[in-house]
Amino acid sequence: MVYTIEILMDKIKSSDKSYDIEKIMSAYELADEAHRGVLRSSGDPYISHPVAVAYILLDKFCMDTDTICAALLHDVVEDTDIGLDVIKKKFGEDVANLVDGVTKIGQVPLNTREEQQAENIRKILIAMSKDIRVIIIKLADRLHNMRTLESRPPEKQRKTSLETMNFYAPIAHRLGISDVKEEMEDIALRYLDPYGFKEIEAQLDVHKDERDTFIDKIKSMIRERVNDIQPPPIIEGRVKSVYSIYKKVYVKGKDFSEIYDIYAVRVILQTVVECYNVLGIIHDMFRPIPYRFKDYIAMPKANRYQSLHTTVIGREGIPFEVQIRTQEMHNTAQYGIAAHWKYKAGISGNVAGEKRFDWIRQILEQQQEADDVELISEAIKVDLAPDDVYVFTPKGDVITLPSGSNIIDFAYAIHTAVGNKMIGAKVGGKMVSFDHELHTGEIVEILTSGGSGAGPKRNWIELARTNEAKAKIRGWFKRECRDENIEQGKQALERELKRNGIMVDNDILLETARRQRLQTVDDLYAAIGYGGVQLTKIITRLKDEQIRLQRQAAAQQQTIDIEKTISDTNKKAQRAGVILDGIDDCAVKYAQCCNPLPGDDIMGFITRGYGVSIHKADCQNVILGMQGENKERWIKAHWAVSASTSFRATIDVIAEDRTNLLVEVSQAISANHIPIHDVSAHCLKNGNANIVVTVEVSGIEQLKNLIARISKVPGVITAERTGKQ
Ligand code: MN
Repeated sequence: MVYTIEILMDKIKSSDKSYDIEKIMSAYELADEAHRGVLRSSGDPYISHPVAVAYILLDKFCMDTDTICAALLHDVVEDTDIGLDVIKKKFGEDVANLVDGVTKIGQVPLNTREEQQAENIRKILIAMSKDIRVIIIKLADRLHNMRTLESRPPEKQRKTSLETMNFYAPIAHRLGISDVKEEMEDIALRYLDPYGFKEIEAQLDVHKDERDTFIDKIKSMIRERVNDIQPPPIIEGRVKSVYSIYKKVYVKGKDFSEIYDIYAVRVILQTVVECYNVLGIIHDMFRPIPYRFKDYIAMPKANRYQSLHTTVIGREGIPFEVQIRTQEMHNTAQYGIAAHWKYKAGISGNVAGEKRFDWIRQILEQQQEADDVELISEAIKVDLAPDDVYVFTPKGDVITLPSGSNIIDFAYAIHTAVGNKMIGAKVGGKMVSFDHELHTGEIVEILTSGGSGAGPKRNWIELARTNEAKAKIRGWFKRECRDENIEQGKQALERELKRNGIMVDNDILLETARRQRLQTVDDLYAAIGYGGVQLTKIITRLKDEQIRLQRQAAAQQQTIDIEKTISDTNKKAQRAGVILDGIDDCAVKYAQCCNPLPGDDIMGFITRGYGVSIHKADCQNVILGMQGENKERWIKAHWAVSASTSFRATIDVIAEDRTNLLVEVSQAISANHIPIHDVSAHCLKNGNANIVVTVEVSGIEQLKNLIARISKVPGVITAERTGKQ
């Protein structure tokens, strides 16, 4: 049958729903113009295909105006020069989005052999149809292509049938559109296993008249028993789908004669109570086969299917299945979620899907069928991980990447070599930049260069979102350009060091390299260059190291200062030639109270914190201290025999004041070659002069001689050593 606009228009006019005929005509005219001159392989004008798709949507599902328009235009963007913008301008965003959706899912390559992959692809197709009308249009499109498959070449027939069997029929099933599912499966089977199909068809044909008579007889028997129900139940009888029988014979290995459910009789009622009543009547009329009763009313299937099933044996001994359901359940059973357009009044369907399937929820919530909402969401729930995107290679392999991934991630996910040789990329046939963010359902083609010249760019490491891609790019740089990496890494490091005011020498860099398990500083530079070592981490570590070293240096300086002080004191002690009983190498100072000199009897007092202080043995402090509570801190001390170093001693001179007194005292001292350290003179109240002179002497004998000499200076009254140094 060749569908024309007249047939479509007649159908629209006979519908009890209202349609925007002008808009539909306008869509038809645009499509007709766009496809003009193009023929299908059947020889029919191409436009007959979109018209047929629109007809199916109208006839089967009573879809809305926009869906009908989108159906008429569904191949325009894909196959002609007319763009989406034109459609959007003329027919609005809703129609444009539907056409775009159909175009996109039509581009998804469908050729996997693995069931798991196939299931993923089915999910992706549903997920891509943000507005579920997209997938319904696509199913109608595929259904018409299946119906007209005969005129296509054999390899095309097989390919299309396989796709239909693997993807579209299961999707129709998932959405509960069993009507479309069964038709698709039967046609596909005809091409996929022509012999198997013909065998079953032949079996079914053998006694076709008898079968028809049998079904009619059962129907009238049932009708008789339920004739008091008003309005009268609808009773249908049919031979089940070829494919369902085929599966039982060829897949489950049953003999044709063993198959109970070749025949199916349906009783369609108004209420659930009537359903259970009729079940009782059926079981009273025919003998039920044990374990063949199923209550899908109480426990609906995942795709919302509801019905009572029972298999009984008639008087002829022929088993048959009886399905009992309400009209509403029947609608859902045949049209699934599409039943809403067909049977629910007042639904414009004009709900462009902001969020996936949200419109279904809205519709159902308006109907206040809370259970239904659960069920339908469950039935069509797309359980792809929400944080992942699913994209395709041109061959149809699904690549799963974390959300936000781009071309670079995709290329390296396929193969390292693909990433390394990438020179460009296409998404949906259009060139895109490397940072193009991928979306579920996109088909990504990576353009590679055969030569070894290209290679990844350094900024890809930043652009890539997955660690796998980053690692692979780094790996390439690591291998391919050591010299460049060294230069790059060195510059980067020096820049950062400067910026952070860090000074490092080669030893520190080598130490840093070794910490990263690298052999040389060049290795470190190279690693920074290709990104194997994170510069920020290195800088942080070097900063810490610098601070640590500075602290250490400061601490060391302090230690040196302390040690120097101690050793200076010790030198003095050595110079003094003091030997302390039981204490070695200890700071020594000389008590100011008695100013001991070599030759004096001395004692040492262990002070708190200042080493040992040396007193004359006859010092008052010693005599008192030895009796006090700290007596154990007094130790014996001796002058070293070889003591040859000098000591300071202060001599207090009192003399009659006269001219040249100071000069003569000084001469007396210097005549003995004794250095004068300090000298001061002043007048006393009684008119005498007081000269205080500090000299450096080598021992107590020299000091005694000096004092004797000073005493002989004319006018000197007394000359004495004082306690003062
Ligand atoms: Mn099409």
